[in-house]
Amino acid sequence: MSFTVNKTRVELVRGDITLQDTDAIVNAANSSLLGGGGVDGAIHRAGGPRILEECKEIRARQGGCPTGQAVITGGGNLTARYVIHTVGPVWHGGGHNEAALLRNAYLNSLRLAHEKGLTSIAFPSISTGAYRYPIEQAAAIAVSAVREHAENYDLPRLIRFVLFSDRDLIVYQAAWDAANPVK
Ligand code: ADP
Repeated sequence: MSFTVNKTRVELVRGDITLQDTDAIVNAANSSLLGGGGVDGAIHRAGGPRILEECKEIRARQGGCPTGQAVITGGGNLTARYVIHTVGPVWHGGGHNEAALLRNAYLNSLRLAHEKGLTSIAFPSISTGAYRYPIEQAAAIAVSAVREHAENYDLPRLIRFVLFSDRDLIVYQAAWDAANPVK
């Protein structure tokens, strides 16, 4: 499934983020930047030790990455040239600013990609694994943040959501349709 927003193509696919050929892939990291399970573990395994070394350098400079912010490293052994590490919120019931923080995680990742002049970027479903954000709500925030960025900026030209299961893909497709009704 793909859509055009302004000059940007938005794609929703099922797949493995570590295999994407986009300029950057986004990591659902934690604030320590020292790696973890889920997509974070998969990216560090596939990309090799250089990514963690760069994360440690960033950590030494700025003490990790606050929730909702994003930092960038090289892609190590990945096909993608860069990894943008962002930290989504842990779900605590919805009354702890989770929605704004998740939105910031997407927008700050896209802003970094824009600043670097990157043409393409791939996102996983941030916060909906170990961080337990309900995926229907997370998907609505993700698609609206991506649409907002694409309406305002011409880069990246391709924004791809890479969902890890068929069910997750269906939820994101439904969120896109709900936010973009056929006129
Ligand atoms: P968080 O801590 O932000 O919740 P997780 O890594 O636990 O991050 O999960 C985020 C999402 O990433 C989940 O939907 C999970 O199924 C998915 N995921 C795990 N591995 C991969 C992968 N290799 N490619 C794409 N998505 C993945």
